[in-house]
Amino acid sequence: MSEPRYTTAGALQLKHSMPTEAAKQHFDIYRPLDKAGMSDMVTMLLKHGGPESHEHINNLGKIFFNKATEIGASTPLSDYVNDSEGRQAIIQEYDLKVKQILAKDLSPAAKNKELADMTGGYNKKIEKQNLDYLLSRGSTAAKMAKTGARGNSSQLASGTSTPLMSLNAKGELIPVVIKHSFAEGMTPAEHLAMSYMGRGSTVLSQLSTALPGALFKKLAPTVFHEVITEDDCKTHNGILVDIGDSKSLLGRYEAETNRLVDEEEIKHLVSAGVKRVKVRSSLTCEAHEGICKHCFGLMAHGRLPEIGENVGVIAAQSVSEVLTQAMLSTKHKASVGERKGNQYEQASNLLLNPSDNFKDEATISDINGKVTRISPTALGDFHVFVNEKSHFVPNNQAVKVVVGDTINQGQRLSTGTINPRKLVQLRGLGAGREYMAKELRDIYGGGLDPRHFEIIAKNLIKYVEIMDPGETGFLPGDKVNVSEVAKFLNKKTEELPVDRAEGGVLAKPVHTLTPGTLLDANHIAELKGWGVKTVHVSNSGLRVAPLVPGLQTAKLLDPNWISKLSFSRLKDTLQNSAAIGAESDLHSVDPITPYIMGSEFGEGENGRY
Ligand SMILES: [Zn+2]
Repeated sequence: MSEPRYTTAGALQLKHSMPTEAAKQHFDIYRPLDKAGMSDMVTMLLKHGGPESHEHINNLGKIFFNKATEIGASTPLSDYVNDSEGRQAIIQEYDLKVKQILAKDLSPAAKNKELADMTGGYNKKIEKQNLDYLLSRGSTAAKMAKTGARGNSSQLASGTSTPLMSLNAKGELIPVVIKHSFAEGMTPAEHLAMSYMGRGSTVLSQLSTALPGALFKKLAPTVFHEVITEDDCKTHNGILVDIGDSKSLLGRYEAETNRLVDEEEIKHLVSAGVKRVKVRSSLTCEAHEGICKHCFGLMAHGRLPEIGENVGVIAAQSVSEVLTQAMLSTKHKASVGERKGNQYEQASNLLLNPSDNFKDEATISDINGKVTRISPTALGDFHVFVNEKSHFVPNNQAVKVVVGDTINQGQRLSTGTINPRKLVQLRGLGAGREYMAKELRDIYGGGLDPRHFEIIAKNLIKYVEIMDPGETGFLPGDKVNVSEVAKFLNKKTEELPVDRAEGGVLAKPVHTLTPGTLLDANHIAELKGWGVKTVHVSNSGLRVAPLVPGLQTAKLLDPNWISKLSFSRLKDTLQNSAAIGAESDLHSVDPITPYIMGSEFGEGENGRY
């Protein structure tokens, strides 16, 4: 006989309230609605809830709030007492182990390391014991911690069981065992030890939320003109996404057929043996300004965005918000140096892309060829030879290739982060954009919509420097948006078979390759790999070189001078703009000028402000 299963009246009520039959069927009445349960329920509703799902999810908040009020849930002082023997046993055992470690004949640093390793395990133990015990007594505080409504089990353990040990400002343990909880009150020694951590974390949370906030202030002005401006730019261009990457595929449109990729379509493509799907993306949208609905694809609520929706700000906001959360949650963890740095450091390193101080920069190959030799130096560094050209790999990185490997220009030779600036110089804007979008996605661990990263990569890597103006009015050295040069490149074009296009300047975009790209042997190989037969090359005489200014200066290349005033270096902007007679459009997709001028804000056409 199987075990009986229990559910609650609330779960049955929720099931009954589901907007469609399919959602009713998929709602699991036995599943506790903790953090993971809630998240799965929302996903299930988006999938099976039909057109009402968005509305229904909004209403759930009200249902839960009203229920909590109706029940009169409160959290009396008895919620915060853990007088169990289990708790005392863990504290005693921990205390004994601490004494043993402290008595060892080790350096203070070695002792601290051992203490830290051991304390991590005991923290988990005490959190679990505390939560289980309080739940068994019906503590509302414990229920809230378990569901994630308020606080978590670690905070609850500090309050009701014991924080075990405190950290000093450097993140090292202070070797005083805390045997009391905040609720019970601490001894003077315990209190003094804890005061370091209290002060430290107050300062740290102020500082750490400031950093992602500052990043957002730089990021938002570089993307806030990315507004939905039209229904369909009608491009057949797109990016290639692996068929297994459904997180990225779902909700996009196929570039060739303009068909929506949903679960059915993925099944269909898989059975047709398709490995990579060419889908529309903001990276390849050909709308004159902003992004078209179809290149963006469906939004989280399962519908196309409205004209005027600012998907640039949504991208910047999502990317920064996750970093703020990450900073807050890692602040207590030991800061013992991982070379790559935390999520914020990695993301800001890539976005700011400093020209002189790029952290943990991977070595990439300058040329095509074979790895002929890898020779170590006396200091433990390496020289990797590609066709007798030496590439230096510092000793804090590992070599990722072996002798005999065939290497392409721009390919990684060592661990570390590839500097987009270097990659773009070797492989052009398209390769840099693709890399940045992918690398950001890796840093964020797959939690965010990949389309946010595409919008950011597109706007950080979009400038070119005029090398030869040809018959255009540009001056050599001008730095302009690649979409500006496209117009001129398009004036005199010739359609060539891919085989004969080497050395030509690309006039029309192909996949992520941008107009102005000087086609080398690698590009030709890439184009063939994509199955491209012909390309349009430009005979306009215009030659450009790609640039990656980095987040610190990208906005300063914006020709809209009032918009630039939303960034830094205001004095320079004002002086230079006055000198050249710069202009700013009252009704553009950039919100700043219309917002400053006020009276007509929001009255532009096609998503213009
Ligand atoms: Zn488009």
